[in-house]
Order: sequence, then C-alpha cells, then structure tokens
Amino acid sequence: QGIRDLTVLDVIRTTPRHLFLDEAMAHRAYEDVALPIGFQQTLSQPYIVARMTELLLAAGPRQRVLEVGTGSGYQTAILAQLVDEVYSVERIKPLQHKARQRMRQLKLRNVHMNHADGTMGWQERGPFDGIMATAAPERIPEDLLQQLATDGRLVIPVGGDSQHLQVVTRTAEGYETEIVEAVNFVPLRPGTVK
Ligand code: SAH
Repeated sequence: QGIRDLTVLDVIRTTPRHLFLDEAMAHRAYEDVALPIGFQQTLSQPYIVARMTELLLAAGPRQRVLEVGTGSGYQTAILAQLVDEVYSVERIKPLQHKARQRMRQLKLRNVHMNHADGTMGWQERGPFDGIMATAAPERIPEDLLQQLATDGRLVIPVGGDSQHLQVVTRTAEGYETEIVEAVNFVPLRPGTVK
C-alpha cells in the first residue's frame, strides 16, 4: 500500500496485534481495518499506523516521542520499538490501564504513560523531537506546537467531518506544514474520564 520503510513494516509484522483487542474482537486482529476497543474508541487500521510511523521517522531517528491518545497501546508499542523513549497520554483511565499491562507483557520498558488531557501535551517531559496524535482536533493545539523541538516532527490528523493527516516540522524560523492524505479518526476531546 505504499509503505516503503522496511524497518517499520518489520515491526508491524512482528508485533502481535491480537494482544491489543478484547477477546471478542481478537479473531479480526489481522484484518487491515480499525477495530473497536470500547468507550467508543478504535484501534487504528494497521495501514495508517504504518503510514504515520513512517512519516514520523522520515527525517531520521527520533529520541523522545510524545503520543496523544494511547488507546489500546498498539501504536505505542510500534513506536517503542523504533524510537528511544515514548511518552503517551490517554484521557480514558481504563484504556490506559489495559495499555500499561500490555507494555509490561511485551517487556517494552521505554514507554511512559500519563492519564491526562493530551491537548496540553506533556509539558514536564518535553520538548519532543516527535509528536504523534491518534485523535483529531479541529485545529492543532498550540501546546503541541510549543513542545516540539527544533527539527521535530508532528504527525496529526486535523479536521471535523473532513480530516487530513498533516506533518508539521519545526524549523529555526517557524513551522512548515505538509498535508498528506484524507483520514478518519475519532475526535480529540477535552478533559479526562476516570
Ligand atoms: N493509537 C490508538 C488509537 C486509539 S483511538 C490505538 O492504536 O489503539 C484515539 C484515542 O485518543 C482514544 O483512546 C481516546 O480516548 C484518546 N483521546 C482523545 N482525546 C484525547 C485527549 N485530549 N488526550 C488524550 N487522549 C485522547
């Protein structure tokens, strides 16, 4: 489907996606579709996980990556195998709890999780040379742009009814935005759920 980064494809191939789903959905884990994970949220389609990961890494290796929207933890686990440290924020506590158990099960020890509203990023742990959002805001939150290091890349779906994947690069002069393709993500919502 146009994914060219073989390292990314290799990590997708060797990461057991069924571990990120409830038992009732696990039999569909290897279809290239988004699947429900409860709380009206979805585990992204493997194609889009690969695509966003490839875009994040396209300008070279990343050391500190912020993920907004841990969800099942599938994208988190893919990132953890490709970058130095992953900082992942989720607003729904029970989803975060399950994702944390999965990281332990897979022995991914470079993942740090926070139960918070990721619209504000994770100030104390920034700046980040990579930020990925897996839920879509209507417009890019200012805090995410501010927590991006110089030469850092932000991969984010943006929009309401019509969404597009964007890649924002921070340069010494400002920000450069590239619009990649149409996508369909759950909305980025304010606040947290216990
Ligand atoms: N990457 C996830 C995708 C989950 S769907 C996966 O592979 O499973 C998007 C997730 O973003 C949901 O879990 C949702 O609760 C979360 N989310 C939405 N708004 C958020 C916010 N403001 N802060 C943190 N997480 C948020």
